[in-house]
Amino acid sequence: TGTGTDRIRIGTITGDGIGHEIVPATLQVVAAAIEATDRDEPEPLRIEWVPLHIGHDAIERYGTPLPDETMDSLAALPGWILGPHDNVSYPERFAGTVAPGGAIRRRFDLFANIRPARAFAGVAATSPRMDLVVVRENTEGLYADRNMSTGSGEFMPTPDVALAVGLVTRRATERIARVAFGLARERRRRVTIVHKANVLTLTTGLFRDVCREVARDYPDVTVDDMHVDAAAARLVRDGASIDVLVTENMFGDILSDLTAELAGSLGLAPSINASTSQVMAQAAHGAAPDIAGRGVANPAALMLSAAMMFDRLGEMRGDRRLRVVGRHVDRAVRDTIASGVATADLGGSASTTEFTETVLARALRW
Ligand code: ATP
Ligand code: MG
Repeated sequence: TGTGTDRIRIGTITGDGIGHEIVPATLQVVAAAIEATDRDEPEPLRIEWVPLHIGHDAIERYGTPLPDETMDSLAALPGWILGPHDNVSYPERFAGTVAPGGAIRRRFDLFANIRPARAFAGVAATSPRMDLVVVRENTEGLYADRNMSTGSGEFMPTPDVALAVGLVTRRATERIARVAFGLARERRRRVTIVHKANVLTLTTGLFRDVCREVARDYPDVTVDDMHVDAAAARLVRDGASIDVLVTENMFGDILSDLTAELAGSLGLAPSINASTSQVMAQAAHGAAPDIAGRGVANPAALMLSAAMMFDRLGEMRGDRRLRVVGRHVDRAVRDTIASGVATADLGGSASTTEFTETVLARALRW
Protein backbone atom coordinates (compact mmCIF):
# COMPACT_ATOMS: atom_id res chain seq x y z
CA THR A 1 0.00 0.00 0.00
CA GLY A 2 1.00 3.63 0.21
CA THR A 3 2.29 6.12 -2.26
CA GLY A 4 5.84 4.87 -2.57
CA THR A 5 8.51 7.43 -1.99
CA ASP A 6 6.53 10.48 -3.08
CA ARG A 7 6.92 13.31 -0.67
CA ILE A 8 3.80 14.35 1.15
CA ARG A 9 3.88 18.09 1.72
CA ILE A 10 2.21 19.34 4.91
CA GLY A 11 1.78 23.03 5.73
CA THR A 12 2.66 24.42 9.14
CA ILE A 13 1.23 27.77 10.18
CA THR A 14 2.42 29.04 13.55
CA GLY A 15 -0.17 31.79 13.93
CA ASP A 16 -0.20 34.08 16.97
CA GLY A 17 0.09 33.92 20.75
CA ILE A 18 0.72 30.43 22.09
CA GLY A 19 0.97 29.21 18.47
CA HIS A 20 4.69 29.96 18.83
CA GLU A 21 4.84 27.34 21.57
CA ILE A 22 2.26 24.70 20.66
CA VAL A 23 2.92 24.46 16.91
CA PRO A 24 6.66 23.65 17.27
CA ALA A 25 5.80 21.21 20.09
CA THR A 26 3.28 19.48 17.83
CA LEU A 27 5.72 19.24 14.92
CA GLN A 28 8.32 17.65 17.21
CA VAL A 29 5.86 15.02 18.34
CA VAL A 30 4.63 14.28 14.83
CA ALA A 31 8.22 13.99 13.59
CA ALA A 32 8.95 11.45 16.32
CA ALA A 33 5.81 9.50 15.45
CA ILE A 34 6.89 9.38 11.82
CA GLU A 35 10.28 8.08 12.90
CA ALA A 36 8.61 5.44 15.07
CA THR A 37 6.29 4.42 12.24
CA ASP A 38 9.13 4.17 9.74
CA ARG A 39 10.95 1.65 11.91
CA ASP A 40 8.30 -0.93 10.99
CA GLU A 41 7.81 0.06 7.37
CA PRO A 42 9.73 -1.08 4.31
CA GLU A 43 9.02 2.25 2.59
CA PRO A 44 9.66 5.25 4.82
CA LEU A 45 7.14 8.07 4.89
CA ARG A 46 8.56 11.21 3.40
CA ILE A 47 6.90 14.28 4.84
CA GLU A 48 8.03 17.71 3.78
CA TRP A 49 6.98 20.52 6.13
CA VAL A 50 5.98 23.71 4.34
CA PRO A 51 6.10 26.71 6.70
CA LEU A 52 3.49 29.35 5.87
CA HIS A 53 2.39 32.52 7.61
CA ILE A 54 -0.73 34.19 8.93
CA GLY A 55 -1.26 36.77 11.65
CA HIS A 56 1.51 38.92 13.10
CA ASP A 57 4.24 36.98 11.29
CA ALA A 58 2.48 37.61 8.00
CA ILE A 59 1.97 41.30 8.75
CA GLU A 60 5.72 41.62 9.24
CA ARG A 61 6.59 39.69 6.09
CA TYR A 62 3.83 40.64 3.70
CA GLY A 63 2.00 43.57 5.28
CA THR A 64 -1.23 41.63 5.72
CA PRO A 65 -2.38 38.99 8.21
CA LEU A 66 -3.71 36.71 5.48
CA PRO A 67 -1.39 36.93 2.48
CA ASP A 68 -2.12 35.54 -0.99
CA GLU A 69 1.24 33.76 -0.74
CA THR A 70 -0.15 31.61 2.09
CA MET A 71 -3.49 30.99 0.41
CA ASP A 72 -1.92 30.07 -2.94
CA SER A 73 0.53 27.67 -1.29
CA LEU A 74 -2.24 25.94 0.67
CA ALA A 75 -4.07 25.20 -2.58
CA ALA A 76 -1.38 22.67 -3.49
CA LEU A 77 -1.24 20.92 -0.10
CA PRO A 78 -3.30 17.94 1.11
CA GLY A 79 -3.04 19.01 4.74
CA TRP A 80 -1.82 21.64 7.14
CA ILE A 81 -1.65 22.51 10.81
CA LEU A 82 -3.15 25.89 11.63
CA GLY A 83 -1.99 27.66 14.77
CA PRO A 84 -4.38 30.08 16.49
CA HIS A 85 -4.84 33.68 15.45
CA ASP A 86 -5.31 36.65 17.71
CA ASN A 87 -6.97 39.34 15.64
CA VAL A 88 -7.80 41.35 18.74
CA SER A 89 -4.22 42.52 19.02
CA TYR A 90 -3.56 43.06 15.31
CA PRO A 91 -2.52 46.59 14.39
CA GLU A 92 -5.37 49.06 14.13
CA ARG A 93 -5.91 48.78 10.39
CA PHE A 94 -6.38 44.99 10.53
CA ALA A 95 -8.24 44.80 13.83
CA GLY A 96 -11.47 42.85 13.68
CA THR A 97 -11.35 42.53 9.90
CA VAL A 98 -9.68 39.20 9.43
CA ALA A 99 -10.43 35.71 10.66
CA PRO A 100 -7.85 33.62 8.81
CA GLY A 101 -9.38 30.33 9.95
CA GLY A 102 -12.74 31.21 8.44
CA ALA A 103 -11.25 32.63 5.26
CA ILE A 104 -9.15 29.49 4.72
CA ARG A 105 -12.11 27.25 5.46
CA ARG A 106 -14.23 29.09 2.88
CA ARG A 107 -11.57 29.34 0.19
CA PHE A 108 -10.91 25.57 0.28
CA ASP A 109 -14.50 24.59 1.02
CA LEU A 110 -13.55 22.64 4.15
CA PHE A 111 -17.13 21.65 4.71
CA ALA A 112 -16.75 19.08 7.47
CA ASN A 113 -15.84 20.17 10.98
CA ILE A 114 -15.06 16.99 12.88
CA ARG A 115 -14.84 17.34 16.65
CA PRO A 116 -14.41 14.21 18.75
CA ALA A 117 -15.23 14.27 22.46
CA ARG A 118 -13.56 11.38 24.17
CA ALA A 119 -12.91 11.37 27.91
CA PHE A 120 -9.28 11.18 29.04
CA ALA A 121 -7.86 8.82 31.60
CA GLY A 122 -6.47 11.13 34.27
CA VAL A 123 -8.79 14.07 33.62
CA ALA A 124 -11.93 14.54 35.70
CA ALA A 125 -14.96 14.71 33.44
CA THR A 126 -18.71 15.13 33.80
CA SER A 127 -19.09 12.24 31.32
CA PRO A 128 -16.12 9.95 31.93
CA ARG A 129 -17.42 7.35 29.46
CA MET A 130 -18.07 9.77 26.63
CA ASP A 131 -16.56 8.73 23.28
CA LEU A 132 -18.36 10.42 20.42
CA VAL A 133 -17.70 12.53 17.35
CA VAL A 134 -19.64 15.63 16.39
CA VAL A 135 -19.73 16.02 12.61
CA ARG A 136 -20.72 19.62 11.95
CA GLU A 137 -21.71 20.98 8.56
CA ASN A 138 -19.44 23.96 8.18
CA THR A 139 -20.76 26.06 5.29
CA GLU A 140 -24.51 26.55 5.66
CA GLY A 141 -27.31 27.10 8.17
CA LEU A 142 -27.57 30.46 9.90
CA TYR A 143 -23.79 30.78 9.60
CA ALA A 144 -23.96 30.30 5.82
CA ASP A 145 -20.90 31.50 3.96
CA ARG A 146 -21.57 35.04 2.93
CA ASN A 147 -22.24 34.50 -0.74
CA MET A 148 -26.00 34.91 -0.90
CA SER A 149 -27.68 37.61 -2.95
CA THR A 150 -28.03 39.83 0.10
CA GLY A 151 -24.24 39.75 0.47
CA SER A 152 -24.79 38.53 4.00
CA GLY A 153 -26.83 36.01 5.91
CA GLU A 154 -28.15 38.85 8.09
CA PHE A 155 -29.83 42.14 7.32
CA MET A 156 -31.87 44.91 8.91
CA PRO A 157 -34.94 46.11 7.02
CA THR A 158 -35.26 48.90 9.60
CA PRO A 159 -32.89 49.97 12.39
CA ASP A 160 -35.13 48.14 14.88
CA VAL A 161 -35.56 44.83 13.05
CA ALA A 162 -32.83 42.29 12.31
CA LEU A 163 -33.25 39.15 10.22
CA ALA A 164 -31.04 36.15 9.56
CA VAL A 165 -31.36 33.74 6.67
CA GLY A 166 -30.62 30.07 7.15
CA LEU A 167 -29.48 27.99 4.20
CA VAL A 168 -29.74 24.22 3.79
CA THR A 169 -29.04 22.46 0.51
CA ARG A 170 -29.30 18.85 -0.53
CA ARG A 171 -25.73 18.90 -1.86
CA ALA A 172 -24.12 20.16 1.36
CA THR A 173 -26.25 17.91 3.54
CA GLU A 174 -25.50 14.85 1.46
CA ARG A 175 -21.75 15.34 1.62
CA ILE A 176 -21.68 15.93 5.38
CA ALA A 177 -23.93 12.91 5.93
CA ARG A 178 -21.50 10.73 3.96
CA VAL A 179 -18.65 11.88 6.21
CA ALA A 180 -20.70 10.98 9.29
CA PHE A 181 -21.79 7.56 8.06
CA GLY A 182 -18.29 6.76 6.79
CA LEU A 183 -16.88 7.62 10.23
CA ALA A 184 -19.53 5.56 11.99
CA ARG A 185 -18.43 2.50 9.99
CA GLU A 186 -15.04 2.74 11.66
CA ARG A 187 -16.60 3.19 15.07
CA ARG A 188 -19.70 1.82 16.80
CA ARG A 189 -21.89 2.11 13.69
CA ARG A 190 -24.47 4.51 15.07
CA VAL A 191 -25.40 7.92 13.69
CA THR A 192 -27.64 10.42 15.43
CA ILE A 193 -29.05 13.16 13.18
CA VAL A 194 -29.72 16.37 15.12
CA HIS A 195 -32.25 18.91 13.79
CA LYS A 196 -35.20 21.01 14.91
CA ALA A 197 -37.73 19.93 12.32
CA ASN A 198 -40.74 20.65 14.55
CA VAL A 199 -39.99 24.39 14.29
CA LEU A 200 -37.48 24.89 11.47
CA THR A 201 -39.46 22.50 9.32
CA LEU A 202 -38.17 23.34 5.87
CA THR A 203 -34.47 23.93 6.61
CA THR A 204 -33.61 21.44 9.34
CA GLY A 205 -36.36 19.17 8.01
CA LEU A 206 -34.50 18.95 4.70
CA PHE A 207 -31.30 18.29 6.63
CA ARG A 208 -32.90 15.39 8.49
CA ASP A 209 -34.55 13.94 5.38
CA VAL A 210 -31.41 14.02 3.24
CA CYS A 211 -29.38 12.43 6.07
CA ARG A 212 -32.05 9.71 6.25
CA GLU A 213 -31.74 9.15 2.50
CA VAL A 214 -27.96 8.82 2.74
CA ALA A 215 -28.46 6.35 5.59
CA ARG A 216 -29.97 3.89 3.10
CA ASP A 217 -26.50 3.51 1.54
CA TYR A 218 -25.18 2.43 4.95
CA PRO A 219 -27.55 -0.35 6.02
CA ASP A 220 -24.93 -1.60 8.49
CA VAL A 221 -25.15 1.69 10.44
CA THR A 222 -27.98 2.27 12.92
CA VAL A 223 -29.54 5.69 12.57
CA ASP A 224 -31.80 7.78 14.76
CA ASP A 225 -32.67 11.47 14.85
CA MET A 226 -33.41 13.99 17.61
CA HIS A 227 -34.42 17.57 18.11
CA VAL A 228 -31.48 19.67 19.18
CA ASP A 229 -32.96 20.51 22.59
CA ALA A 230 -33.55 16.83 23.35
CA ALA A 231 -30.05 16.07 22.09
CA ALA A 232 -28.54 18.59 24.53
CA ALA A 233 -30.38 16.92 27.42
CA ARG A 234 -29.42 13.42 26.24
CA LEU A 235 -25.75 14.41 25.93
CA VAL A 236 -25.66 15.47 29.56
CA ARG A 237 -27.72 12.55 30.85
CA ASP A 238 -26.36 9.74 28.72
CA GLY A 239 -23.72 11.09 26.33
CA ALA A 240 -21.86 7.78 26.36
CA SER A 241 -24.66 6.26 24.29
CA ILE A 242 -23.95 8.58 21.33
CA ASP A 243 -21.42 7.48 18.70
CA VAL A 244 -21.51 9.88 15.73
CA LEU A 245 -23.69 12.98 15.87
CA VAL A 246 -24.29 14.78 12.57
CA THR A 247 -25.83 18.24 12.50
CA GLU A 248 -26.02 21.63 10.85
CA ASN A 249 -23.62 24.49 11.46
CA MET A 250 -24.92 26.38 14.51
CA PHE A 251 -26.22 23.33 16.39
CA GLY A 252 -22.83 21.70 15.80
CA ASP A 253 -20.98 24.77 17.02
CA ILE A 254 -22.89 24.78 20.29
CA LEU A 255 -23.13 21.02 20.89
CA SER A 256 -19.44 20.43 20.19
CA ASP A 257 -18.44 22.91 22.91
CA LEU A 258 -20.85 21.14 25.23
CA THR A 259 -19.49 17.68 24.44
CA ALA A 260 -15.86 18.83 24.67
CA GLU A 261 -16.50 20.13 28.15
CA LEU A 262 -18.50 17.03 29.20
CA ALA A 263 -15.59 14.83 28.10
CA GLY A 264 -13.03 16.80 30.09
CA SER A 265 -12.07 20.26 28.96
CA LEU A 266 -12.59 22.49 25.99
CA GLY A 267 -8.88 23.20 26.32
CA LEU A 268 -8.14 19.59 25.31
CA ALA A 269 -10.54 19.54 22.36
CA PRO A 270 -9.07 18.71 18.97
CA SER A 271 -10.71 19.29 15.60
CA ILE A 272 -10.17 19.03 11.90
CA ASN A 273 -11.84 20.84 9.05
CA ALA A 274 -11.91 18.77 5.90
CA SER A 275 -13.04 18.62 2.30
CA THR A 276 -12.77 15.42 0.30
CA SER A 277 -9.19 16.33 -0.71
CA GLN A 278 -7.75 18.51 2.06
CA VAL A 279 -7.54 18.53 5.86
CA MET A 280 -6.75 21.32 8.28
CA ALA A 281 -5.83 20.56 11.89
CA GLN A 282 -6.89 23.26 14.34
CA ALA A 283 -7.31 23.23 18.12
CA ALA A 284 -10.69 24.39 19.42
CA HIS A 285 -9.06 26.96 21.71
CA GLY A 286 -7.66 30.34 20.69
CA ALA A 287 -4.33 32.16 20.85
CA ALA A 288 -4.49 32.64 24.64
CA PRO A 289 -2.60 35.96 24.60
CA ASP A 290 -2.83 36.12 28.40
CA ILE A 291 -0.35 33.25 28.77
CA ALA A 292 1.57 33.48 25.48
CA GLY A 293 5.35 33.45 25.69
CA ARG A 294 5.44 32.03 29.21
CA GLY A 295 6.05 28.42 28.23
CA VAL A 296 2.96 27.11 30.02
CA ALA A 297 0.48 26.53 27.17
CA ASN A 298 -1.06 23.11 26.80
CA PRO A 299 -0.15 21.69 23.37
CA ALA A 300 -2.38 18.61 23.74
CA ALA A 301 -5.36 19.83 21.72
CA LEU A 302 -3.21 20.75 18.74
CA MET A 303 -1.25 17.49 18.97
CA LEU A 304 -4.51 15.54 18.99
CA SER A 305 -5.77 17.62 16.06
CA ALA A 306 -2.62 16.77 14.11
CA ALA A 307 -3.20 13.11 14.93
CA MET A 308 -6.70 13.36 13.47
CA MET A 309 -5.32 15.07 10.38
CA PHE A 310 -2.87 12.25 9.74
CA ASP A 311 -5.59 9.67 10.24
CA ARG A 312 -7.85 11.44 7.75
CA LEU A 313 -5.01 11.97 5.25
CA GLY A 314 -4.22 8.28 5.46
CA GLU A 315 -7.80 7.42 4.73
CA MET A 316 -8.05 9.88 1.83
CA ARG A 317 -4.80 8.74 0.24
CA GLY A 318 -5.15 5.06 1.05
CA ASP A 319 -1.86 5.19 2.94
CA ARG A 320 -1.92 3.10 6.11
CA ARG A 321 1.36 4.60 7.36
CA LEU A 322 -0.22 8.02 7.79
CA ARG A 323 -2.94 6.48 9.92
CA VAL A 324 -0.31 4.76 12.06
CA VAL A 325 1.38 8.13 12.65
CA GLY A 326 -1.95 9.54 13.78
CA ARG A 327 -2.52 6.65 16.17
CA HIS A 328 0.99 6.98 17.65
CA VAL A 329 0.49 10.68 18.35
CA ASP A 330 -2.96 10.18 19.83
CA ARG A 331 -1.84 7.39 22.12
CA ALA A 332 1.32 9.21 23.18
CA VAL A 333 -0.61 12.31 24.23
CA ARG A 334 -3.29 10.29 26.04
CA ASP A 335 -0.69 8.15 27.84
CA THR A 336 1.15 11.26 28.95
CA ILE A 337 -2.01 12.83 30.35
CA ALA A 338 -2.99 9.53 32.00
CA SER A 339 0.42 9.39 33.68
CA GLY A 340 -0.39 12.61 35.53
CA VAL A 341 1.84 14.97 33.58
CA ALA A 342 -0.29 18.07 33.17
CA THR A 343 0.05 21.73 32.28
CA ALA A 344 -1.36 24.48 34.49
CA ASP A 345 -4.74 24.64 32.75
CA LEU A 346 -5.31 21.02 33.91
CA GLY A 347 -4.11 21.81 37.43
CA GLY A 348 -0.60 20.50 36.90
CA SER A 349 2.78 22.17 36.92
CA ALA A 350 4.39 20.90 33.71
CA SER A 351 5.65 23.46 31.23
CA THR A 352 4.89 23.12 27.53
CA THR A 353 8.40 21.73 27.07
CA GLU A 354 8.11 19.24 29.93
CA PHE A 355 4.77 17.99 28.64
CA THR A 356 6.18 17.64 25.13
CA GLU A 357 9.34 15.89 26.35
CA THR A 358 7.19 13.39 28.22
CA VAL A 359 5.15 12.67 25.12
CA LEU A 360 8.37 12.13 23.21
CA ALA A 361 10.23 10.12 25.85
CA ARG A 362 7.55 8.00 27.39
CA ALA A 363 5.50 7.23 24.38
CA LEU A 364 7.33 7.72 21.13
CA ARG A 365 10.97 6.85 21.68
CA TRP A 366 10.48 3.36 23.04
P1 ATP B 1 -10.61 33.03 20.40
O1 ATP B 1 -11.45 34.22 20.20
O2 ATP B 1 -9.36 33.02 19.59
O3 ATP B 1 -11.37 31.74 20.38
P2 ATP B 1 -10.88 33.11 23.26
O4 ATP B 1 -11.05 34.48 23.78
O5 ATP B 1 -12.03 32.20 23.13
O6 ATP B 1 -10.05 33.17 21.88
P3 ATP B 1 -8.74 31.40 24.14
O7 ATP B 1 -7.56 31.96 23.44
O8 ATP B 1 -9.24 30.09 23.69
O9 ATP B 1 -9.87 32.48 24.21
O10 ATP B 1 -8.44 31.35 25.69
C1 ATP B 1 -9.44 31.26 26.69
C2 ATP B 1 -8.77 30.97 28.04
O11 ATP B 1 -8.25 29.64 28.00
C3 ATP B 1 -7.59 31.88 28.32
O12 ATP B 1 -7.51 32.18 29.70
C4 ATP B 1 -6.40 31.07 27.91
O13 ATP B 1 -5.24 31.38 28.60
C5 ATP B 1 -6.85 29.63 28.16
N1 ATP B 1 -6.26 28.72 27.16
C6 ATP B 1 -6.67 28.59 25.89
N2 ATP B 1 -5.92 27.68 25.23
C7 ATP B 1 -5.02 27.21 26.13
C8 ATP B 1 -3.97 26.24 26.06
N3 ATP B 1 -3.68 25.56 24.95
N4 ATP B 1 -3.25 26.02 27.18
C9 ATP B 1 -3.52 26.68 28.32
N5 ATP B 1 -4.50 27.58 28.45
C10 ATP B 1 -5.25 27.87 27.38
MG1 MG C 1 -13.03 31.23 21.59
